[in-house]
Amino acid sequence: MNYKNPDENGYYGEFGGAFIPEMLYPNVEELQKNYLAIIESEDFQNEYQDLLTHYVGRATPLYFAKNLSKKYKTQIYLKREDLNHTGAHKINNALGQVLLAKRLGKTRIIAETGAGQHGVATATACALLGLECIVYMGEIDIQRQAPNVARMKMLGAEVIAATSGSKTLKDAVNEALRDWINNPVTTHYVIGSVVGPHPFPDLVARFQSIISKEIREQLKEKIGRETPDYVIACVGGGSNAAGTFYHFVEEKDVKIIAAEAGGLGVHSGKSAATTFLGTLGVLHGSKSLVMQTADGQVIEPHSISAGLDYPGIGPFHAHLFQDKRAEFFSINDDEALKSAFELTKLEGIIPALESSHALAVLDKKKFNEDDVVVICLSGRGDKDMETYLKEMSIS
Ligand SMILES: *Cc1c(COP(=O)(O)O)cnc(C)c1O
Repeated sequence: MNYKNPDENGYYGEFGGAFIPEMLYPNVEELQKNYLAIIESEDFQNEYQDLLTHYVGRATPLYFAKNLSKKYKTQIYLKREDLNHTGAHKINNALGQVLLAKRLGKTRIIAETGAGQHGVATATACALLGLECIVYMGEIDIQRQAPNVARMKMLGAEVIAATSGSKTLKDAVNEALRDWINNPVTTHYVIGSVVGPHPFPDLVARFQSIISKEIREQLKEKIGRETPDYVIACVGGGSNAAGTFYHFVEEKDVKIIAAEAGGLGVHSGKSAATTFLGTLGVLHGSKSLVMQTADGQVIEPHSISAGLDYPGIGPFHAHLFQDKRAEFFSINDDEALKSAFELTKLEGIIPALESSHALAVLDKKKFNEDDVVVICLSGRGDKDMETYLKEMSIS
C-alpha cells in the first residue's frame, strides 16, 4: 500500500487528481512536468536545505514534555514547529515553493491565507528572494488576524480582501485561483496546504516531510528507535499533519491520529470536521471529502481557529481516513482553548489555537504509560492572543 505519494495522475486511492478550468492547464501542466526533477536536483536541495538550517532555524527541537507527560501518564514529545522563523510550519513549504517558482522563471507570487501564517511565510520568502507578492485573505480573517496582516504589509506584500461567501479561507482560495487564470505566465500560486490540483498535495507534503524526517532522527537519539507509538497532528487542509505522518504512514506499528476542528460541535451546524460531515466532492481542484449540501453547495465551515476553518481536507488524508490508516478526532472550540491554557501553564509554551486541537486529543484517548506519543506543535500562539485574552476575561 502506498499512502505516501500519489499515482502519476495525482490520486491517493480515489482522492486527488486535477480538476481545473481549461485556462489553468498550462500552469498546472508546467508544474506537473517539472516539479520532481527540480526539487530533487542537488542544486535545489543545497539551496533549500541551507536556508532551512540557517534561515528557518531547523532542525526544530523534539521536546520531551515532562509535566504534560506526568499529567496524562504517558510519554509525550512535542515537535516544535512553533520555533520556526515566522512561527509555524508554513515556512517549510513557502520557501520551497518560492525557490521552485524562481527556477521556473516566475517573477510574481500569489498566495491565499487563513490564519495569516501562510501569507506571512510566503511574504517572508518573497522578501528574501526578491519576488513580488500578493496575498488573498478573507475579510473576516483580516479582522481576526490583524497582527499577521501588519506583518505581511511590512514584508512588502499586497494583501487583498476576499469579500464573497463566508469571507474566510475558501473564498480567498477562489480569488487566488481567479488571479492565476488571469496571470498564467508570470505567476506561481503558492498553495499553503496539501490541497489543490495535482501536483500541489504531493509538492507540499514533500516540503513538509522534513518534520517526520527529523522526528525519526531525534527519536533515534533520544529513545534508541526511530518510530513512536503515536503521531498526532491537527488537520486544516492537512500540511503539518502530512509532514508529521509522511515518513511513518508505511510503518504499521505507528498509529496515526488526526485532529479536526469540531467548532461548536459536529452537529451544531457550526463545524469544520470534514471527515465527519464531508462527502466525496471536488473542491479547489481536487477530488476529496468536502462539506457540501446534497446538491453540491459548499457548506460554510466554522472553527475558532482561522487555520482550520476550511470545508475540505487534502486527498492524502481523505485516503488515510477511508482506509482507516488514521484515526480522526473532532475537537471543539472550547476543548482546544482548554488545551491551549493547559500547555501554557504546564510547560510554559503558548501554542497556536490550531495546534491546541492536536493537544486536546490527550483528553479523548487513553495512552499507555510507556507509549511514545509525538504531537506536532504546528505554531505559536502570538497571533491568537486576542482570542486567549477574551477567554481569560470570561472565565
Ligand atoms: C495553517 C495552520 C494550520 C493548518 O494548516 P495545515 O495545512 O492543516 O497544517 C495548523 N497550525 C498552524 C499553526 C497553522 O498556521
